[in-house]
Amino acid sequence: MSEERYRRLAAADHRHVWHPFTQMQLWMAEEPLIIERGEGNYLIDARGRRYLDGVASLWCNVHGHRHPRLDRALRDQIDRIAHSTMLGLSNTPAIELAQALIEIAPGGLSRVFYSDSGAEAVEVALRIAAQYWQLAGQPERTVFITLNEAYHGDTIGSASLGYSEPFHRHIRALLFPAVKIPPPHVFRFHQRMAPDAADAAALEAAAGVFTRDGKKAAALVIEPLMQGAAGMWAHSAAYLQSVTQMARAAGALIIADEVATGFGRTGALFACHHAGVNPDLMCLGKGITGGYLPLAATLTAERIFEAFLGSPQEFRAFYYGHTYTGNPLAAAVASANLAIFREEHLIEAIQPKIAILRRALESRFAAHRNAADIRQWGLMAGVELMESVRERRPFAYAAQTGARIASAARKFGVVVRPLGDTLIFMPPLSITSDEIEMLTDAVFRATCEIVGT
Ligand SMILES: *Cc1c(COP(=O)(O)O)cnc(C)c1O
Repeated sequence: MSEERYRRLAAADHRHVWHPFTQMQLWMAEEPLIIERGEGNYLIDARGRRYLDGVASLWCNVHGHRHPRLDRALRDQIDRIAHSTMLGLSNTPAIELAQALIEIAPGGLSRVFYSDSGAEAVEVALRIAAQYWQLAGQPERTVFITLNEAYHGDTIGSASLGYSEPFHRHIRALLFPAVKIPPPHVFRFHQRMAPDAADAAALEAAAGVFTRDGKKAAALVIEPLMQGAAGMWAHSAAYLQSVTQMARAAGALIIADEVATGFGRTGALFACHHAGVNPDLMCLGKGITGGYLPLAATLTAERIFEAFLGSPQEFRAFYYGHTYTGNPLAAAVASANLAIFREEHLIEAIQPKIAILRRALESRFAAHRNAADIRQWGLMAGVELMESVRERRPFAYAAQTGARIASAARKFGVVVRPLGDTLIFMPPLSITSDEIEMLTDAVFRATCEIVGT
């Protein structure tokens, strides 16, 4: 493509497009990277340059771009129908996908409610939970318990669960309050506790909250094992087991937000599997279509579903839905995604890559002066940088250290997106061992370039 065409596109982007989570003043001062094609684990920009897709196109790509099997599933479906509605009708791909999801989901989940994004999957879960308690004769259960720095999406409902001061300050008046518990990561990182002591401290704090608010609790909402958007805050399977047991004992529902952790990301098909936790509701998004199309799903237990049954005049139905709910194209590609997991034994196949990523991060970053913490579950990892590790002093926000490192990494042929000063490694599950070395190497070289060795 000609340089002239790139210039035209870049100018039009700067003139008309408003990018998410982006300070547009900064954006408009820089040349945009414009992606035109993809090939396996690579993105190809409008100037023909290739970049390893180090964050799986915002955590959703699974098998690489333009996977023949996923492409074929889409083409086959488009020859039948692109969209019809789930309101008053059903469609073949949505039915087949629901069945396939229930087969692989944690035990006890039997119903699938579709939506279009992770935030909506969470919105659906919290609305089902709220209505469930009204219908089940415990109307006082209206409180949601969530972790500090949880991220559950950007609608008003999901942002209420995952409040973040810098992001949501301006809409604070619109959000409903959630009750917060501190994740063990906070104790461990800031107080330098051993993992077990941090788990114990976090569980003690949670126990206090459940004692005080347990009877009003509608649900515990949790990103199992890894609070992704917080900056890859990991917790142990043991913590997940204990905190969900506490919620159960208090009579609250358990909502697992597996939007980021689902579909193999943590090294199991779902993060809940690592802890043997069977949630009452589970939210899925991101990887569900292999990263092809927007689709999300909220899975629920049968007893919750049953509470909504009754005659029309009882008004027990779940009055919620979106126009593109259960879209046949998205459902068809999602089923093909699941077939690849099954037939290629993908969960076993990625285990060696997880170990390679661990070693690749350790060997490069463990000894670096500014690397404060390396956190990993499966093929999702974060390296938190600080100006002074010893004093737990972060870099100044204005320095935009993480963002500058990500920019510098492009020179070395990788696209990554940090969370603040935590460098994020979230490649497609199809990344090869050589590409893991290339990814970690590029980000390490960029780090040394920006903050020194
Ligand atoms: C990304 C994410 C969401 C929101 O998903 P969207 O599709 O961006 O709305 C919700 N929960 C978690 C844990 C996520 O990582």
